[in-house]
Amino acid sequence: MTENNTDEPTSEITCREVAEWTSAYLDAHAGEDRNLLISLHLAGCAGCEAYVKQIACVRDLVGSLPETAMIPTLSDTLRQALAARRRPQ
Ligand SMILES: [Zn+2]
Repeated sequence: MTENNTDEPTSEITCREVAEWTSAYLDAHAGEDRNLLISLHLAGCAGCEAYVKQIACVRDLVGSLPETAMIPTLSDTLRQALAARRRPQ
């Protein structure tokens, strides 16, 4: 067994490779061929399918964080606007 098979076009992808390429796969940055190989692997490997779904779920949660982080800024602006309105003349 050698380890210099990384630049060879492979017809199969291993569970380890799926794990390594999960982020790129979810970003559609893995490349057409690799995307296809991963899709094929996921279709026949419940463990990797569950893993990719889990990563996708975590990424969804992380992706929604900036939106949540914006709320204090927004409410701060609102508070200031309300305070300015309530200022007696
Ligand atoms: Zn697998």
